This record gives sequence, structure tokens and C-alpha cells, in this order.
Amino acid sequence: MYSYTVVDAHCDTISELYRPLRLYQNDGHLDIKRLKAYKNWLQFFALWAPPQLDAVGAFQRCETIIRQFHEQLARYSAYIEQVANIKEIESAFGRRKIGAFLTLEGGVPIGGDLAVLDWFYAQGVRCIAPTWNNSNLLGTGAGEEDPVTGLTSLGKQAVSRMNALGIIVDVSHLSEKSFWDVAQDCAGPFAATHSNARKICDHRRNLTDEQFLAVVRAGGVVGMNMYPLFVTGGKKAGIDDLIRHIEHFLSLGGADNIGLGCDFDGIDYGLEEIKGAEHVYLLFDRMRRMNYPDSLIAKIASENFLGLIKAVCR
Ligand SMILES: [Zn+2]
Repeated sequence: MYSYTVVDAHCDTISELYRPLRLYQNDGHLDIKRLKAYKNWLQFFALWAPPQLDAVGAFQRCETIIRQFHEQLARYSAYIEQVANIKEIESAFGRRKIGAFLTLEGGVPIGGDLAVLDWFYAQGVRCIAPTWNNSNLLGTGAGEEDPVTGLTSLGKQAVSRMNALGIIVDVSHLSEKSFWDVAQDCAGPFAATHSNARKICDHRRNLTDEQFLAVVRAGGVVGMNMYPLFVTGGKKAGIDDLIRHIEHFLSLGGADNIGLGCDFDGIDYGLEEIKGAEHVYLLFDRMRRMNYPDSLIAKIASENFLGLIKAVCR
């Protein structure tokens, strides 16, 4: 067993509906069999609907994913259970269970009705990205050609509703203006669940130094993404390339603000050495060999995201 407690703040495993969801063992990047090889593992599972679906279609897609997710959790309840706050996470860890933390990536299914946001809350969703790459009624996404616009007034209301309910706001896929709208309006710490440093790899899905410092000021966390395109900008990237992003964020004073957001099953391929969740320990082993203190490795592996959940989710 690997001695690490890990929080991975993003995967697309349960939204991959083109193949039947087999959560115990599958040929994707992540499954129960591989996660239970770690001391503890908390996995964020994103609900995601393809951008061509309208609000109704996207909502129905999320309902389907949630139903399958519950079927799988019921079948493998000996190993994994849904968690929504720090108390439930600690309880699951104490019984050697994997924690499954539900998130929503993109606000299309919310449509124009914030009551739907409350419905997602009732399903246990505790982290929401107002947009994916495309824009929606809540705001402008990172993938727009000319993303100069930010959150809509409905998007700003959604952020304040998320603050009131205790849902983490995820800025990973927002346009820069949407990011700054969240930074200004969000009542507490927020997250970029799967984004890297733009200073190291100039991609619009990565954060500028100014953005990272805003996350730090808010007491939030950025999950390091293992997709080579966001690590080196090319098709190949290794653990040491990802560590360059970590070191850059550390140089900006981010020791309490760095976590993992591997993006498993949302990417075609990962780092050279990390083909899936079974290899994540290699990152921490490498940091150990580089003389990172165990306390800092533990922060990045799990404690920073656990602290964010504790601060936001009730
Ligand atoms: Zn994503």
C-alpha cells in the first residue's frame, strides 16, 4: 500500500458515458481497484455534458450520470462512498473507504433557473465550475475565441448562491474576465481544480501569476493538471515538467494553495511516468528524493484541498 493520502480534484471518469461505467476496474485512468492501493483517496467526480446539448439535454445527461454513479457506489459500497464535507471524508477515511466528491463542470444544465443549482446541491454536488470552455447563461468560458466578457448577472447570483450553500466555486475553465469576477465577488476561498502555471506553459487553461496570487489571497487551492498540453504545451511531459509548475507556484508563496487535479479520463494521455491513478505516488516519491519536506508533500497531496473543503462545505 502507498502511504500517501491523496485528494484528486478533477476527473471525468463518470461522465465517460460512451462506455459502460465500470468503477471497480476499467481500462481508463482511474478505478476503485487502483485507488484503494493508497492509504486514503478522495476523488472529485465531475458531472459534464457535451457543449452541443442545451440546458434540458445537459440536465438529463447529468441525471443519467448521477444514476449510474449511485448504482456503482451501491455495488462497491465496501470500498467507496459519497462524501460532501470534511466530517464525512474523515469518517470514510477512518473506515478505509475511498471518498467520492461530486462536482459539476459547466453550468449549462442550470439554464436560467438557480433552483436547479439547489437541486445539484441536494445531489451532494459541492464544487461547481460556472462554465466549461464554452460560454453559457452564467458567463464566458476559457475556450471562447475572444473571451473578454465575464460572468453574467445570473452568473454572479449563482456565485452568491454557491457561497450561501457552501459549494466551492471552480474557476479552471473560466475566461480571464470571468475569473476576476469570481475573485471579486466570491465570499470565501475558491479553487481552480485542474489548471497549471501560464508562466511555465502559456495556455489559456492555465493561470497567470496575478490569477494565482488572487487564489492565494482568497485562501483557495489550484489543482495541478497532468495533461501534457497544459504542462509543456506539447505531446510529451514528465513528472519533472509538472514539478516546474509546482516550484513556480511555490516561488509565489503558494505552499498552502497547491493540490492535484489530474484530469484523469478527461485527457487522451497523461505524463510519461503517470499513466493513471496507480502511478500518482511516483510524483510524491520524486518530490521526496528532491528533499521536499514530508509536510509540504502532504499539503500538496491532500491537506490543502481538505482544508478548502473544511472552510467551504458544511
Ligand atoms: Zn476540464
